[in-house]
Order: sequence, then structure tokens, then C-alpha cells
Amino acid sequence: MKLPYAEPYRIKAVEAIKPSTRRQREKWIKEAHYNLFNLSSDQVFIDLLTDSGTGSMTDNQWAAIMTGDESYAGAKSFFTLKKTIQTLFGFEYFIPTHQGRAAENVLFSALVKEGDIVPGNSHFDTTKGHIESRKATALDCTIDEAKDTQLEIPFKGEVDVNKLKAVFEKYPKERIPFCVLTITNNSAGGQPVSMKNIRETSELCHSYGIPLLLDSARFAENAYFIKKREAGYGSKTIKQIVKEMYSYADMMTMSAKKDGVVNMGGFIALNSKEVYEAAKRYCISYEGFITYGGMAGRDMNALAVGLDENTEFETLDARMRQVAYLGKLLDRYGVPYQRPAGGHAIFVDAKKMLPNVPKEEFAAQTLAVELYLEAGVRACEIGSILADRDPVTRENRYSDLELTRLAIARRVYTDNHMAVIAAALKNVMARADKITHGYRIVEEAPILRHFTVKLEKIEE
Ligand SMILES: *Cc1c(COP(=O)(O)O)cnc(C)c1O
Repeated sequence: MKLPYAEPYRIKAVEAIKPSTRRQREKWIKEAHYNLFNLSSDQVFIDLLTDSGTGSMTDNQWAAIMTGDESYAGAKSFFTLKKTIQTLFGFEYFIPTHQGRAAENVLFSALVKEGDIVPGNSHFDTTKGHIESRKATALDCTIDEAKDTQLEIPFKGEVDVNKLKAVFEKYPKERIPFCVLTITNNSAGGQPVSMKNIRETSELCHSYGIPLLLDSARFAENAYFIKKREAGYGSKTIKQIVKEMYSYADMMTMSAKKDGVVNMGGFIALNSKEVYEAAKRYCISYEGFITYGGMAGRDMNALAVGLDENTEFETLDARMRQVAYLGKLLDRYGVPYQRPAGGHAIFVDAKKMLPNVPKEEFAAQTLAVELYLEAGVRACEIGSILADRDPVTRENRYSDLELTRLAIARRVYTDNHMAVIAAALKNVMARADKITHGYRIVEEAPILRHFTVKLEKIEE
């Protein structure tokens, strides 16, 4: 008999989680104004809100924490991390920041000005926020195929180079500080970008004199998909693939809380001394001195180990198999999701699953609340609440996709938890025809509203 697959690790510390009753959850979610960000974590059984900062670190990472150097300036931990980043990505300069959005804030302060255009593939919400708060415009040039959740193609997160070219033709290069390629494409469903697309985007950008920024939160998962799905990369190591990906880019921003597998951290890395010098001073005023930039020495140490370990095939393979396993269970139950299964999450197609909820009543949020009520599973809306209002017209931007994201934390839950999640969705689907109404907004922030929005249930 062929032996089944098993994870290449064992578990050294465990953390208790508590189930609850439906009655309790009804009360809690109402008190939370139907915003899952307002729940306290002990009101949640299985937390799929995000894979950001929620991963389990390895014993080697915890050991590195003990040898962190907390010197204000010139800490050994800074140089350790710098060396890891130079080796992995091939960039000369590196600025640590406390997380990904801080990297965006520091870099965009140096590069983005009012009236600018920043094209890319489905800008992540904080990326878009940092562009729009500077009165610049984020233009989404993702391939149209990404909008069809049932279409199964290997690289569904790509940028459409023809759309990108049209942007470069329309606007003068002085107004385009850079193009941002998000790998993997989080908002489109954790879908990867091929090496071919990275290379072609890079060539196009450079022929117009425009730098290419890789928004890199899940760069290692993207490299895994290239290895598994793109011709010519099957026998390459993840580290070789990563090196090639970044040979086409001019700079990167990184949320280390994802593929760095740390609880907090981020960075900028780049080759241009000029941009580095410009960004450096914003790091000092917003984040901290340039050799710690918002991170403790111990955290920089843990990140150096995390980056190294998480660019090994076996580590990534265990994770991606779990996400794919959840996808398989959902297939069995006929639950529609963005196909194929993404790297860090499954994005359930809420429009398909709850067809009776009008678009003004936020189907993806409605599904997230139903899933919580069903089993204490906390998911995240990636739909029209997240899309915010148009900065000019202040109208709601109804997104093409209403997705409820089930983000899987790294090495945190077991396949039994996946089975509970899938069964809960099956149960919600069984009563989907009776779910005809969703929610209305009663209070919202002008930007990044999904974190703090207050909602009210719409009754018949
Ligand atoms: C998470 C994320 C960010 C922002 O990073 P934070 O660490 O949450 O501030 C930026 N881009 C992408 C693609 C992300 O997934």
C-alpha cells in the first residue's frame, strides 16, 4: 500500500479553543454590530479571519527570539535579517517596518504624489488605501478571467499586459511612480502570477521607464505555484524561483506576517540608492531608526529564520495541501468558491451561494455572519464593504465578486478543523433559499471601513 501523506512536523505546544452555542453566538454577533472584527477571539471557535500574523512559529524561530539583539542602533539582528533578504531576493537595500502597510506608508511617502496613477493587479486594501489617501489613483489591470470564479486556470492572479500598456500609453510616465504586482493576488482569491507574467510585466514597465514593485506578502506561495504549474520550473528549488522572480523587480514591500511566518513585521527592499535615501527619512519619522524600523531585534531574528524555512518546498507543500483539502471537501458538498483553491485561503462565492441577497445588502458579509452563527467559524468579507466608496462620487463600489474568505493560518489547525468548516458551509447552503436579506451600514469610516463598520440586519 502506498503510504498516505503526513505533515513533516510534529506539534510542541497547543492552545485551547472553546466551542459555543448558537444562542451565545446570536447574542455576541449582534453586540458586535454584525462586524466579525468586533468579536473577541474567545467568542470564536475556528478563526479564519486572516492568515496574517496568526501562524505557528517553529522551535528554531523561538530559539532565534532568545538571541535577538535589542540595541537601538546597529543590532546584530538587523544585519542577520539584511543578509537573509539580500540572499533570497537579491536586493541591496532593506528597511524594516512594523508590518506591510507601514512599508507601503514609508515607500509611498517617498514616491506617490497627488494626481499619480498606480496600475497593478487587484491592489490589496491597505495598498489602495495608501495610494488613495495621497489623492492618487489605483488602476486595476487584473485579467478578466479572475472574475469568473468557476473558471479553472493555473495563474488567475495575473496582470493583463494589454490593459497595463493602455495605461502607460494614456498617462505620462511622470505620473506613474511604479506598477504594483501583488503575489499572490490576495483580493482575486490568493491566485498566483506566473513567472512569464512577472517577466512580461517587468519588460513592459521598463520599456516605459516605470519601476516594478512586487507586493510580496505571499511570494513563497506564489513560487510554489510556479514550481507546480509552470513549465520549466518543476525541478527548480523554491529559493531559485524566488531569486528569478525578484530579478525582474525594482523593489518590494513585504508583510512578513504572511510568508515570513512571524506575528508582526514587514520591510521594504530595493536596489535604487536614491529611493532608499528618500524612504529612509520617512522610516525614521514613522517607524523608528533604520536598523529596527518598528521591529524588535528578536522579531527580526525570528523573521530571518521564518523566511529561510518558508522558502523550502516541504514547508509550503504541507500548507498548500491543507488549503487544497478544504477545497476538496467543499467540492464534495457543492459549495462554490474561486477556483482553483488559492494559496492561503478558500474564497467562497457568496453571490452564487446566497443568490437571493440583493447586492445592496452585502452577500459576502451575510455569508460570513451565517457561517459564524452556524459553527463559530470566523471568516472575512472580501466584497463590497471592503471595496469602500468611490473617493470622488462617494457611491458604494459594488465589486464584481462577493467573496467570503476562509484564510488558513499556517500550521495552526488540523484537517479535522477543515472538516468542521466544510460541514458548516454545507449546512448554510442547505438553508440558502431562506436567506433573502442581508445588512445595511449604519456607521462607517471614510476609508478602510470594513474594519470598524457597524451593520444592522435587514428584516423582511
Ligand atoms: C497583508 C497584506 C498587506 C498589508 O500588510 P499588513 O502586514 O497587514 O500591514 C499588503 N499587501 C498584501 C497583498 C497583503 O496580503
